[in-house]
Amino acid sequence: MIYLDHAATTPVYPEALEAMTPYLDTYYFNPSGNYREGISIRKTLNRIRLEIAESIHADPKEIVFTSGGTESDNWALINAARQYSAKGHHIITSSIEHHAILHTCHFLESRGFDITFLPVTSKGIIDPECLEKAIRPDTILISIMYANNEIGSLQPIHEIGKIAKKYSIPFHTDAVQAYCHIPIDVNADMIDLLSVSAHKFGGPKGVGFLYANSRTPLQPFLYGGAQEQGRRAGTENVAGIVGMGKAAEISLTHLNEYAQTESRLRDYLMHRILAKIPLTRLNGSHDKRLPGNINVSFRGIEAATLIAMLETKEIYVSGGSACSSADRSPSHVLKALGLTDAMASGALRITIGHENTLSEMEETFQAIRSCVRELRQIG
Ligand code: PLP
Repeated sequence: MIYLDHAATTPVYPEALEAMTPYLDTYYFNPSGNYREGISIRKTLNRIRLEIAESIHADPKEIVFTSGGTESDNWALINAARQYSAKGHHIITSSIEHHAILHTCHFLESRGFDITFLPVTSKGIIDPECLEKAIRPDTILISIMYANNEIGSLQPIHEIGKIAKKYSIPFHTDAVQAYCHIPIDVNADMIDLLSVSAHKFGGPKGVGFLYANSRTPLQPFLYGGAQEQGRRAGTENVAGIVGMGKAAEISLTHLNEYAQTESRLRDYLMHRILAKIPLTRLNGSHDKRLPGNINVSFRGIEAATLIAMLETKEIYVSGGSACSSADRSPSHVLKALGLTDAMASGALRITIGHENTLSEMEETFQAIRSCVRELRQIG
């Protein structure tokens, strides 16, 4: 099997699984327990909190463990809407966000908030000038993703942070696809809130964190116990957090090496496809792109058919966001780049991991070329 859908989820590191397992049996104690075992687990969680905080240049008090990217995104937006509604009802985001942001924005619209969905260039990048022009006296939050999950485009985070700071508006970024793949520094980039999910970097599903700096306090989103310093009720997902901690440790130790491997494989496969298969187009930016992401459209081809054909050859790719794969309408991200419905529905997302190999890239290229030829002959 050649797995090329790492933006949907990544294989769990064996070391992460090994680290987690004792917390499902031997160390089953509740981290809120005030006896030796409970305290010991609490200490483990706080050690991971510290390591994660350091990895983004934050303070451990600013990290809250969550159930993953969706919860972190929902919380960041709804928290701002609740806390700052006296100041205003305007939020700025982009038109290519993940549905965890877009659908939360639509919910807030239904509650009287006004949302500006910034357009992107044909490369999938927002224009900072356009952002600055969209700011109003009643703007209470800017939420722009770090890296896009479909086309891998990287946003000008530093410039966005600078603008947000200039106008004293909290800046949230959905870094689910970026954390542990590219270095992040919340101080240097003036980020106030940041969402992360463990299963995008070799950790388990259903766990992640939300960073919120001391200038951007969080109100509880879930009510109940006093866990996470009273900010998020519910017994912690101890094994999940331990797995996330181990996965972050491995990914961050090898960040440069893995990024180089992925971009070398990406460039090889991307150039083979674009040079050798007629009527193809790269979606997104050439250079401002996640190391492992390729998104290409094949004119006259339905990606869903191509994906199914590749699956019979044991090659796993996708047509876009895994969360909306049941929805056959053209991707909102590709539409925002200006693609026609036909080109958008002919788009294949290939997302590479550091464990993939050059021979897998060649095999994938050969398989795609023969499937495209076959489909075009039939068509
Ligand atoms: N944000 C982005 C950019 C994503 O790619 C995803 C998952 O695909 C999410 C949010 C949601 O994360 P989770 O699966 O942890 O809920």
